[in-house]
Amino acid sequence: MAMQLQSVSSDPWQERPLWAEIDLDALADNVRLLKNQANGAALMAVVKANAYGHGAVAVARTALAAGADRLGVICVDEGEQLRRAGITAPILVMGHTPAGEAQRLTDLSLTPSVVSDQTALALARVAGERGIETPVHLKVDTGLNRYGLPRSEAADLGRWLHDLAGIQVEGLFTHFASADEEDKSYTIEQHKLFLSVAEQLNWVPIRHVSNTATLLDIPDMSLEMVRPGLGIYGCYPSTHVKRSLSLKPVLSLKGRLVRLTPIAPGEPVSYGRTWTASRPSLIGLVMCGYADGLPRALSNRGSVLVRGRRAPIVGRVCMDMCMVDVSDIPDVVVDDEVVIIGRQGEQEISADELAELCGTISYEILCGISARVPRLYLRQGRVVSKQTLVRELQEGVTASVPEGVLAEEPSPGGA
Ligand SMILES: *Cc1c(COP(=O)(O)O)cnc(C)c1O
Repeated sequence: MAMQLQSVSSDPWQERPLWAEIDLDALADNVRLLKNQANGAALMAVVKANAYGHGAVAVARTALAAGADRLGVICVDEGEQLRRAGITAPILVMGHTPAGEAQRLTDLSLTPSVVSDQTALALARVAGERGIETPVHLKVDTGLNRYGLPRSEAADLGRWLHDLAGIQVEGLFTHFASADEEDKSYTIEQHKLFLSVAEQLNWVPIRHVSNTATLLDIPDMSLEMVRPGLGIYGCYPSTHVKRSLSLKPVLSLKGRLVRLTPIAPGEPVSYGRTWTASRPSLIGLVMCGYADGLPRALSNRGSVLVRGRRAPIVGRVCMDMCMVDVSDIPDVVVDDEVVIIGRQGEQEISADELAELCGTISYEILCGISARVPRLYLRQGRVVSKQTLVRELQEGVTASVPEGVLAEEPSPGGA
């Protein structure tokens, strides 16, 4: 499928009555604030999971322009998406890369995380065939017990990789289990264990441990590189984490009322009839459901903003729509803007608020916003590009990009 690039019109968004606005200026400011916090360390912007729902390509470009040095993803596909968009910065694949992906990873000049000799050997073989050296980062587990080499094996594998032709150990990293908690003792313990491994491999140039919570709370742990995700999107990992940097939320989720239905007392709304009008009510229809990323757990719990006031979500959230009680909103009309996440007038609904209502974290709310939701990218309050499920529209650009064509040759994966 070819991506069509067409001119952005300056008209208000009149297509799908549901969209996310991504404030690229806020994103750039957040990247600068976080980099400034990092004691001179390099910053790898974590853009996994479609940049936490914000759109990987636009976020990656903006973060790099704002001073990010590298990008972090989880799988080769995510890296390929960025390469296809012409992004040449080093990209670390932080998840597991099976040996079978060594070829493609090398073709794309991605940097893998390595935790086993199998993937390393496959990478070395491909590198040997091409007469290149593939940079890799060694992942050590220091107490998350999720992904990484056991500490006892890390130094041995590191030395073996050091001598393996075609492989260059560029980085060494670990990931913290409880960095966003008030009690930092486990994090400090993990950090110590990590440094003891790093000492044995003291020739590795880039050591990195810091996610957003660590960067905010313990900037002294920044080492040679930090890897914030959530913070660049303007959210805080937990209520315990310091808010000394004024990060600004980047994403708003908005829609329009597409229909208003007056109902009589005693009439139910939505599947299962879990809500019944207790008075003559006016029910607004919003084309946002759990398939768009509005959790069904918000049924009869959440609210949206209309005309600067809160309108409760009534009845069950459906796959593609939800209903809101706008009985108390003066002058409400069809086409009124609905804010699901973001500000309207004096009111604000944050991703954290939705997360709390659902018993989850803002991370899950943000990365749950599905590809079906159009993304509108803003600079200085103006839409500069739009990304829908099937189209990418950019200001002043009318070319179309044929499928499978890399816009630019990626550079070799070095710094
Ligand atoms: C997702 C991820 C990060 C970013 O974490 P945030 O809490 O969003 O800053 C950093 N490192 C690794 C290994 C990750 O998987």
